[in-house]
Amino acid sequence: MRIDRVRIITVPLQLVSPLRTSQGDHSTRTATLVEITADDGTVGWGENVAPEGGFYTGETADLSRAFMRDVLIPGLVNDSFEDDEDLDDEEASMPMADHAVSSALADIEMRQRGLPLAAAVGRPDVRTVRVGAVVGMHDVLDDVVAEAMQRVADGYTRIKVKIAPGRDVDVVAAVRSAIPASVDLHVDANGAYDASDIRHLAFLDAHNVGLVEQPFAHNDLASHTRLSKSIVTPVCLDESVETVLDAMDAIATAACSVINVKPSRVGGFHQAVAILRLCAENGIDAWIGGMLESGIGRAGCLALATHPACTMTPDLSASSRYFVRDVTEPFVLVDGCLTVPTGPGLGVEPLPEVLEDPATAIETVFER
Ligand code: MG
Repeated sequence: MRIDRVRIITVPLQLVSPLRTSQGDHSTRTATLVEITADDGTVGWGENVAPEGGFYTGETADLSRAFMRDVLIPGLVNDSFEDDEDLDDEEASMPMADHAVSSALADIEMRQRGLPLAAAVGRPDVRTVRVGAVVGMHDVLDDVVAEAMQRVADGYTRIKVKIAPGRDVDVVAAVRSAIPASVDLHVDANGAYDASDIRHLAFLDAHNVGLVEQPFAHNDLASHTRLSKSIVTPVCLDESVETVLDAMDAIATAACSVINVKPSRVGGFHQAVAILRLCAENGIDAWIGGMLESGIGRAGCLALATHPACTMTPDLSASSRYFVRDVTEPFVLVDGCLTVPTGPGLGVEPLPEVLEDPATAIETVFER
């Protein structure tokens, strides 16, 4: 395949409400999209979800955009690659950038083949995916409970609340008692605890919590192993797993019984599918996490969430949970589920009015 044009398109998005975690506050969001046009006119889309502050893994929006513009895209158009697998097979140096570019190439390939992306990364016969919602931190406990109850009223059957030292026992107890027992409750600490908290975290066992996600720092597998041995609540890893090797280490050390797989965190769909397969082979539950994707990134995550190794509800909410206006046709929650696009490739593209909006910035980084 020859590439005729590559553009990086940034779209400022208005969040419906800020999302606060133990690591930072998302109040605004800029969608960074990669549009690649093949020589036959087929257009593929990817999304780079690196956040402005870089507080998730250190890959900031600015660095990640520069890496795409100065390293990945010149490598692509200088014919130094065969197909998108070459990108994914490299050691991911900036995983969010790698995923953005490689998923645009995968989108082109599947559009050219006339098949939905799920045919490559999941199961194309799965039409809907049951999804969960994340409740951020609030200064007032009642606001956490109110948001959780609102998500249940919206139709979500799995709620995840963010916790941190000093903001945990009361949050979990209050939300658990406010929402129906039939709604799964998960908690995510984004690495806010340390080894001295292992005994404290046993409180989770009293509250019918479906899992605790990333209680300790990303490089502290040992504490995750100790916690896994000392509580009944399943321990899930997120930030600790950036590569297939990380997943193998986590499984070998019994650090978790669940892995949250995010294609942007692990550098692409190929890595994500490899980790999902590893999970299935080792009896590890898996699900697809979200990173405040717009409709472009969300479509890819939804396709991946159809993979048979995904045994738990993903963090992929409806567009209206996040954005006043999404960049694509909005994803809508129906009976607690999102519909997987069935069109070729991602099955979605940015709306013309979004691309024509004066606030949208379009940078042509290559044109033949
Ligand atoms: Mg997480």
